Amino acid sequence: MLIAGNWKMNAASMEEFGKMLARAPEAAAKGVDLLVCPPFVLLHRLAEQAQGSVLEIGAQDSHYEDEGAFTGNVSPRMLADSGATAVILGHSERRSDHRESDELVAKKALAAQRAGLRTIVCVGESEEERDAGEAEAVVTRQLIGSLPDTLDPAGLIVAYEPVWAIGTGRTASTDDIGSMHGLIRSGLARRLSSRAVPILYGGSVKPANASQILSVDNVGGALVGGASLKADDFLAIALAAPDGRR
Ligand code: PEP
Repeated sequence: MLIAGNWKMNAASMEEFGKMLARAPEAAAKGVDLLVCPPFVLLHRLAEQAQGSVLEIGAQDSHYEDEGAFTGNVSPRMLADSGATAVILGHSERRSDHRESDELVAKKALAAQRAGLRTIVCVGESEEERDAGEAEAVVTRQLIGSLPDTLDPAGLIVAYEPVWAIGTGRTASTDDIGSMHGLIRSGLARRLSSRAVPILYGGSVKPANASQILSVDNVGGALVGGASLKADDFLAIALAAPDGRR
């Protein structure tokens, strides 16, 4: 299982990060990997502190080129040089605030894999799309568009994050999570001939709901926003993972 923390444009204190590092072996003993994705400017510092630890550091976005005239952007190779081992791509906040298309996410995913980064590709429907009965169609379209068929499934992770559940305190029901993760699982088998890609759930995961969510079929972990800023909450989510689940 993987519990990935997306700090967004927040900086948890170094004290909180120190606690996460200190307690990461408890999660590892349960077969749970921890990944922390801070803002770009903290990557190098946190990666240095995490050296030798089981906790990994990732980024929240990257460009599709290795270098060039792209003001304000950071390439996946630069992230890897800073000590990141993973990157989140196509998060709904990038898709809505920066108008990122499936096509762009697909280019970024290939570039991230070229740089050797594990690549977390996010998909998920809006509330209007769910109310209109289009959730499955939207997620299927995002999967097809955001995952080029040349992508290596070995370094790929998919995160299902219903947009209406992100940062709202609302979560999808365990039935809806199970059916969407089942759909994604079969889509990945068809598209990339892989049954082993971890599928994370994201959307208001907290210590209080983690055990229920992480026990659903085809849930391989969680992508956690708000609750990843506090070491106690982040660790409680990791330790709520069912025993022996990869
Ligand atoms: C996220 O940002 O990916 C997320 C799931 O946020 P939160 O846990 O705060 O809903």
